[in-house]
Formats: sequence, structure tokens, C-alpha cells
Amino acid sequence: MASVAVLTSGGDAPGMNAAIQAVVRVAASRDLDVVGILDGYDGLIDGTSRPLTRRIGGGVSVPVADVDSAGPLGGTILGSSRCPRFHKAEFRAKAAEHLRALDCIGLIVIGGNGSIAGAHAIANEMEIPVVGIPASIDNDIGLTREALGVDTALNTIVEACDRISDTARSHRRAFIVEVMGRDSGYLAMAAAAATAADAVLLPEVSKSFDETVDAVAECIRHSFSSERHKRRTLVIKAEGVGIPTHMLVDEVVAQLEDIDNLEVRGTVLGHLVRGGNSSFRDRLIAGRFGLTAIEALLAGRTDVMVGWNLTDTGEPTSDSFIRLFPIALVLEETQALIDGSSDVIRGRVERMESIQGVLSL
Ligand code: ADP
Repeated sequence: MASVAVLTSGGDAPGMNAAIQAVVRVAASRDLDVVGILDGYDGLIDGTSRPLTRRIGGGVSVPVADVDSAGPLGGTILGSSRCPRFHKAEFRAKAAEHLRALDCIGLIVIGGNGSIAGAHAIANEMEIPVVGIPASIDNDIGLTREALGVDTALNTIVEACDRISDTARSHRRAFIVEVMGRDSGYLAMAAAAATAADAVLLPEVSKSFDETVDAVAECIRHSFSSERHKRRTLVIKAEGVGIPTHMLVDEVVAQLEDIDNLEVRGTVLGHLVRGGNSSFRDRLIAGRFGLTAIEALLAGRTDVMVGWNLTDTGEPTSDSFIRLFPIALVLEETQALIDGSSDVIRGRVERMESIQGVLSL
């Protein structure tokens, strides 16, 4: 029986399990078996895997029990890893050997931009087709408007900020809330717009230490001034902004010593944002990614990634929202997202600048 291999790699993201489930269900419906590689590229190198389908009466392929229940869950039932060995060709050769031994028609890699780069490396070094599915809460993968996990992470952040706002308004407090995003401020930016925050700090907009402290202090001063008289000030800060949140809080408090009874608090949401059941939207996208990834493998495609993208670039698929992109182009655009030269980043920064005045109102 023909089979497909699937793995999850890099930073986990809600929606990875929904994508695994979709891959397995679609593959089973096409009479394929599915093998899950454990712990990302580590499992590929070490040859550790387990079946994700089984055959029942009449030889019908069906998902195994934990795949049936995995769809909603955050994290990944296959495990994930950062695997430094995969950067070395000798270990990738070992991985290719294990993959060959599984006798599958292709490998689906679900992961972030590093994992997609790894998929590109092996796709070019072996004859087995590889298709990527983008999953990263940071939304820092090129040529997909959204990666799996972004929507769930944003829902978590928005809910956390709403809860913080409840208590902040009760006591007239300022909160600086830090969200994940070392290189990408997307989560901070999108959350700031959705929570009517008073300011947002992004790594894409480089400000010195002093400028950052001054801007936050000024924002809080204005917000709590006798004219404006707000009851809550909310500043959302991306992790990648070069000042630790507790230090920013201390510096801002020192600048605002003249305001009576001022309370400024910092909250780092951290890994809370990574976990949790995936949202409807992430499950929807995961399902459609899974379907088009299997279709791409069955069509013999390799070194491509599925992207959620309503544009006329990329290759159309059976799904009007999903396009297929050569991974080389994805990696080029990912680099531009990271170094800020991408039109997408310029657009985000411009949009952010255009709403700065709105945020500070
Ligand atoms: P993410 O996929 O979430 O971006 P990482 O950047 O840590 O996470 O990448 C996950 C793994 O992908 C790495 O630990 C490594 O095994 C593999 N990888 C990343 N970049 C490359 C590359 N250029 N060549 C080969 N493998 C890579």
C-alpha cells in the first residue's frame, strides 16, 4: 500500500494537530497509509515513527484513535524539536535513508520558516517529494497571508487583554502587555488594533531605549491626564523590542513620579499564547492546507509550500484560497519579512504609523 509521511517541526503552533488530522483523513480517503515521524527532524534522522492510519474490513484505511481526537488540541501529538543536526548534510542523508525505507510517496512538513527551509534542503537532496504546510504563531513565513496558529494566538491575546482591561479600568491602571514575536511584531500589531490599545511597540519600528521609554511615559501621561481621563492604558509590546518589560515598567514609573497614585504593571503572556485549542479559523485553514498538500503530493509535486493567499501569484489549486509556491520563493520572501525589505512589512509599518494617532486617542 502506498503511504505518506508527516512531521511537525520547530516552534509548536495551535492548528498543527488539525493539519495532521486533515492530512491523515484526506490520505486515508485516497487509500493511502500515513506514517507520523516523531519529534520533527530528530525523528527523521533517528528513524522513529508510528502509524497514523490502520486498515479495517475490506482493507479500508482509517485514522488511528488519537488522530480522531487530536484535531482541536494545541501543541502536536507527533512532538516537535529544534534539531541542529539537520543543518548538516550528513544527518540529512541519514534522514533521507530512513524516509526511503518507509517507501512513501512523499513527506509533508508542518512547521515554521526554519522547518520549511529544512524541507527545501531535503527536497533538493533526495528523490522523495516534500510539501510544506506553514505553521507559526509569529506569522513570519513568506507568501502565506496567515500561518497556522496565528488566529488562535490572537484570540488568546485579545482575551487576555480584555481580562487585563477589566481589572485595569477598575483601578485606573496602566498595563504593558508583552506578547511573543522575536523578529515579527505581527501579533502585537494585530492585537493592538483589536483591543483598542493606546500604543504598540514593534521590533520592525526601531526606537532607541530612551525614545521607547519617553513614548510610553507620554502615552500614559496623556491617557490619565485630567482632560482625557481614561481609566485604562494598554500598551502592547512585542517580545523582540530590545527592552525587557520589567525594566520598561521601572523606567516609565520613574519618569511619571509626579503623577499621584499611578500604577503601571507589566504582564508577559509568553508561552500561554502558544497553547490552547485551535480556533475555528485555524482548523478551517488546516483542513484546507491538508487537502491541498495531499493533492500536491499525489500530483508528484515537490519543494512547494501551500499558502493561504488570495492573490494571483503562485499556482492555483483546487481551493480558491490556497496557492502553491516553490519553497525557494517562500524563503526569499521570508528573509525579506525578517530584514524588513518586504512590501508586506512596509505595508504593516505604514498601516501602524497611520493608526498611531488613533491608538493614542
Ligand atoms: P521554526 O520552524 O519554528 O521556524 P526553527 O527555525 O528552529 O523553527 O527550525 C526548525 C528546524 O528546522 C531546525 O531546528 C532545523 O532542524 C531545521 N532547519 C532550519 N533551517 C534549516 C536550514 N537552512 N537547513 C536545514 N534545516 C533547517
